[in-house]
Amino acid sequence: MALNLLMLGPPGAGKGTQAERFARTRGIPKISTGDILRTAIHEGTDIGRRARAIMDRGELVNDEVMIGIVRERLERSDTAEGFVLDGFPRTVAQAAALDTIMTGRDPLIVLDIVVPEAELVRRLGTRMICEHCGANAPIGDGTSACKRCGGRLVQRADDREGTVRHRMEVYARETAPVLEHYRAAGLLREIDGSGSRDDVFQRMTASV
Ligand SMILES: [Zn+2]
Repeated sequence: MALNLLMLGPPGAGKGTQAERFARTRGIPKISTGDILRTAIHEGTDIGRRARAIMDRGELVNDEVMIGIVRERLERSDTAEGFVLDGFPRTVAQAAALDTIMTGRDPLIVLDIVVPEAELVRRLGTRMICEHCGANAPIGDGTSACKRCGGRLVQRADDREGTVRHRMEVYARETAPVLEHYRAAGLLREIDGSGSRDDVFQRMTASV
C-alpha cells in the first residue's frame, strides 16, 4: 500500500524538516508546492507558463493553477509508492480538488503537528539575522557577530513576539477549515510536536 502523507502544522513546527526526513527514510518524494511551482515554471509546462504569467503580473497563484500543478506532479510515476505533500492544501477548495485527484489511489494520511503557541513563540524568537548581509544565525551559539561578514546579529522583524502571534492567528484562521475537512473525513491524525526533532519524528513514524 502506498504511503500518501500530507503534513500540516503552523510556522515553526518544523514541518518542512520532518517532511524531508520522512520522505528520505521511506524512499518516497517530498513534494512542496514552492518547489514544484519553481520546477514547472523552469520546465515551461503549460501550467508553469500560466503560473509565470500570473506571477509576472504581481498576482498570487490562484487555486486553479495551484491545483493543476499539484495534479501534474502527483501523476508522475515516482509517487506510485507514496509521497509526502507539504504546503498544500491551504484552502478547502484545494482540499476538495485533492480528494478528486486521489480518487482510486490509497487514502491520504493527514498529520497535523500540534505545538503549543508559547513553544512556537520561543522557537521563532531564537532565530537571529545579520543586520548587514541578511544571513541567518541561531541564537545561543555564543556569537554576536555574523560568521559571513562580521555584521551585528539582530532578531528578525517577523520573528518578534507580536508578529509571531499574528502569524499564528492567521495560520489558525486559514487552516481551521482544512483541518475540519480532514477531521470530518476521518483522515486527521494529531502529532504532539513538542520536544526535540527526533522525538517528533518518532511519534510521526509510530503514527503511520
Ligand atoms: Zn552578515
